[in-house]
Amino acid sequence: MTDKPYNLIIIGSGPAGFTASIYASRYKLSNLILGEKVGGTIGLASKVENYPGFRSISGLDLMVKIEEHVKDLGAEVVYDPVTGVKKKNGDFEVLTRSGKSLLAETIIIATGTERRKLDVPGEKEYLGRGVTYCTTCDAPFFKDKVAALIGGSDSAVSGAIHTAEFAKKVYIIYRKEKLRAEPAWVEQALGNPKIEPIYNTNITKILGTKDLEPKAEGPDKVAAAELDHPYKGEKILKLDGVFIEIGGVPGVGIASSMGVELTEAGFIKANKQMETNVQGVFSAGDCNDRLPNFQQMTTACAEGALAAASAYKFLKQVEAPQIKGLG
Ligand code: NDP
Repeated sequence: MTDKPYNLIIIGSGPAGFTASIYASRYKLSNLILGEKVGGTIGLASKVENYPGFRSISGLDLMVKIEEHVKDLGAEVVYDPVTGVKKKNGDFEVLTRSGKSLLAETIIIATGTERRKLDVPGEKEYLGRGVTYCTTCDAPFFKDKVAALIGGSDSAVSGAIHTAEFAKKVYIIYRKEKLRAEPAWVEQALGNPKIEPIYNTNITKILGTKDLEPKAEGPDKVAAAELDHPYKGEKILKLDGVFIEIGGVPGVGIASSMGVELTEAGFIKANKQMETNVQGVFSAGDCNDRLPNFQQMTTACAEGALAAASAYKFLKQVEAPQIKGLG
């Protein structure tokens, strides 16, 4: 790290941030990526099967490869989350959790999303004791056990397929009547004899061992879920784990503290060039408002590339190489 202002600091270490860095480095802009962990949300995906060049790869393996590419081009990647950004003598001062203060001429916000919570009793109490938001990390702990994936989109359905590699039984509890994940995932899940969807149903409470048997010995951990509609005549479904995979909310805390304009739904308002309303600040990836809201790794990468091109234009006052008719 350096005391000199970076041409660009990228906040977020997912596909959008990493791609922005690749483009920035090839434009010869000094750039630093500050993130929470390698890969962002896609780094938690058990399998990615729709990113060109990789027929099937874990999200983490894919993102580690991209991180190598980024570092190879000379960028710095530091896992020290940003806690605030303010203007200082015409530059941006970026503050980090570990207490660093770094300067940048431009900023790209690529902060993705944060996991959505179910907000039911038992969710907080049993976090780490059977409740998880990371199927990829925790599925191996459910060998020969019974787990439920909550949600009906790609995270829940691909997560169920992954969990079924370990668990003896996997329910997908979904509030609507038909899974809406990519058809390729749905076909795999519904063809798996260990996976059983429970449609039109929500979990209303997560119960522990001691809720079912107050005198039970041993640690109090997830033992069942209460459903809003009976399943096979029962409102209590016995299980060992509840995997909450119900999507994310945009991670825009830093953006809003900088005065970046958000939509009513809380996404960053960026134009087609990924410019925000704050001069010198660009945004890319799942934290951005898009129509349609197609939160894919490929679209995040594309936005990262455009954001880097716009940062280049802002710094050099000419279009980035290969950009025609922008602006
Ligand atoms: P999504 O936003 O796509 O889906 C969230 C799911 O959770 C929906 O089925 C939604 O229901 C349900 N849900 C939301 N809130 C609640 C609630 N309070 N109670 C019960 N259910 C709820 O999130 P994902 O994490 O699945 O995917 C995010 C993005 O990442 C997508 O674009 C996806 O394609 C991508 N992705 C790709 C993967 C891969 O390729 N390997 C893996 C995972 C994600 P409803 O359907 O009613 O809205």
